[in-house]
Amino acid sequence: MSHIPYFGQETHAELDLWNQIIYALNGSCDSLEHQLSQHDAEHLQDHQPFLEYLDNEIFLCDGCGWWCETSEMSDSGQCYDCDPEEE
Ligand SMILES: [Zn+2]
Repeated sequence: MSHIPYFGQETHAELDLWNQIIYALNGSCDSLEHQLSQHDAEHLQDHQPFLEYLDNEIFLCDGCGWWCETSEMSDSGQCYDCDPEEE
């Protein structure tokens, strides 16, 4: 994955951490809370720039409860596997 650090104030190490958390979540059904505690990063729970960054990369499908890449989001906001409109 390659990311452009567009939030400016974040250090490179912090962005690495964000990416690690997103990478760990992507394709899993783990909770964000659990991954934050795994990475000793509970401070990110309410950190808006992180949440926006995460939103930009992955989303939690409310159909199957798995994290998917945003590029796999259908018009209904679910992953293609869950969206009845998609074949
Ligand atoms: Zn789904």
